[in-house]
Amino acid sequence: MTTVEEANYALSKILDADSQKNVIELGWIKNVRVAIPRSIITLALPSYANPQRDRIVQEARKILLNFSDIEDVQIELDNSAPQVNDENKTPQLQSIKGIKRVIAVSSGKGGVGKSTIAVNLACSLSKLGLKTGLLDADIYGPNTPSMLGVSEENPKVHGSGNDQRLIPIVKFGISIVSMGFLIEEGQPVIWRGPMLNSIIRQFLYQVEWNDIDFLIIDLPPGTGDAQISLAQSVPIAGAIIVTTPQKVSLQDSRRGLAMFKQLGVPLLGVVENMSVFIPPDQPNKSYEIFGQGGGKLLADENQLPLLAKIPIEMPVVSESNLGIPIAISHPDTKSSMKFKELASLIQNKFKS
Ligand code: ADP
Repeated sequence: MTTVEEANYALSKILDADSQKNVIELGWIKNVRVAIPRSIITLALPSYANPQRDRIVQEARKILLNFSDIEDVQIELDNSAPQVNDENKTPQLQSIKGIKRVIAVSSGKGGVGKSTIAVNLACSLSKLGLKTGLLDADIYGPNTPSMLGVSEENPKVHGSGNDQRLIPIVKFGISIVSMGFLIEEGQPVIWRGPMLNSIIRQFLYQVEWNDIDFLIIDLPPGTGDAQISLAQSVPIAGAIIVTTPQKVSLQDSRRGLAMFKQLGVPLLGVVENMSVFIPPDQPNKSYEIFGQGGGKLLADENQLPLLAKIPIEMPVVSESNLGIPIAISHPDTKSSMKFKELASLIQNKFKS
């Protein structure tokens, strides 16, 4: 006769598609009982795992029915879903003096336009009259200083010892801090783990932030130490996930999104960048050169809003190379309008 241990062991082959941990370990399938010819299990999925529900149920049924004496599988639902694995959660978050809200801009992989979105969102919030900060935490490729034309600047430091404070560079009304100010251009940065953790904490807490309404953080791509350090240090009001329309490359974005959920960071929604290409000589035309639907799919799968679809426009690149983001240089372009809408959306969401 099949035992509970055998059933549990067999069910532990079912994995969470994001963390690759098994569903028994995660507590998503629990209370496994065997009452031949029936087996009863309890399904306790956290809300973010709902998109995986059908697959997990199907696999569980198949696995249990494979035992020769089990003929029927009964699935009970437990809506008091388990807490996310707590080892990654922050017990104590420390808010930053001088900052009202932190918004993290993230992407599953590089090159999707995460920094472009972070920089233009910061510019658009600033244009709405909000006091805005930009923290370039993309320590492996800090390029926001050049996008904002301040890569030659050297920020001043006040005080000494533990009271030392970095004074942000101000451009277009935005207070900017970036690793790019501290390392030589073109130098690779290979900090990991504790060192990375400490540099990120310094960037958060040892900066003279002054009455900032929104601090936009441009995170490095992926799901590494920097994201975890950040989420374990500071209360994040919301994270934005940047992706492209290509459905085939969604897997990285899904992983990034799942990580924030596991870390308990609230998600504001998805921004799809490079949605269509708008030719400069025919601004009324648009071409879906990267396919379509990726952003909406990612948003729908996670019951999140698709916050904006940003087109590809030439001035995004050319002006950015000159150190002027499109939201400042070409406010009437489609991209700039979308950035403005995105900024208003965020402003309204947090209106108190
Ligand atoms: P990431 O931060 O994700 O690595 P970047 O913001 O650095 O990506 O963008 C990668 C490249 O794509 C840059 O050259 C940038 O100017 C360009 N780019 C990003 N978004 C757009 C857009 N909407 N239209 C045109 N070019 C864009």
